[in-house]
Amino acid sequence: MNDGPPAERIEVRRSARRRKSIAVHREGDVFVVSAPQWMSNRDVEQHARELITRLRRESSTPSDEELLARALWLRMEFLPEAPEPSSVVWAPQERRWGSCSSVDRSLRISSKLRRAPQYVIDAIVVHELAHLLRADHGREFAQLINRFPDNARADAFLAGVSFAKGLPNDY
Ligand SMILES: [Zn+2]
Repeated sequence: MNDGPPAERIEVRRSARRRKSIAVHREGDVFVVSAPQWMSNRDVEQHARELITRLRRESSTPSDEELLARALWLRMEFLPEAPEPSSVVWAPQERRWGSCSSVDRSLRISSKLRRAPQYVIDAIVVHELAHLLRADHGREFAQLINRFPDNARADAFLAGVSFAKGLPNDY
């Protein structure tokens, strides 16, 4: 079975205890298919394909284009005085959740956060947009990012992830 991007693998586990139907769940980049012993390979493959397609759709993360569209909306909603970002991309950043360049108005979001809740990604975008207005993290900067209502909740989420993974909580 091979109907997805090569980064994702599919692993079929046969279970004597599973009686009726198959189930699929995700373990990192692996789709784990649990199937009853009696089911034919062909049936397992067909059912798994449907379930994986559904799961992929549900767990899909926004593309760079969608990130930019989201950032343009967040800017209009919360920081209309900030310059329009030129691009927003997922980037393999190890040391910071997000960064930006005020020279070309580009924003980068750490790909570690691809599966983070939407409000967390939004908060980082708002944070980087605010940096297009102010470079420091002072009081005026805090007022800008706190216009985004879920900012404190996102802060707590990121502090928790940083603590658990031993990562710096910088952006
Ligand atoms: Zn910052």
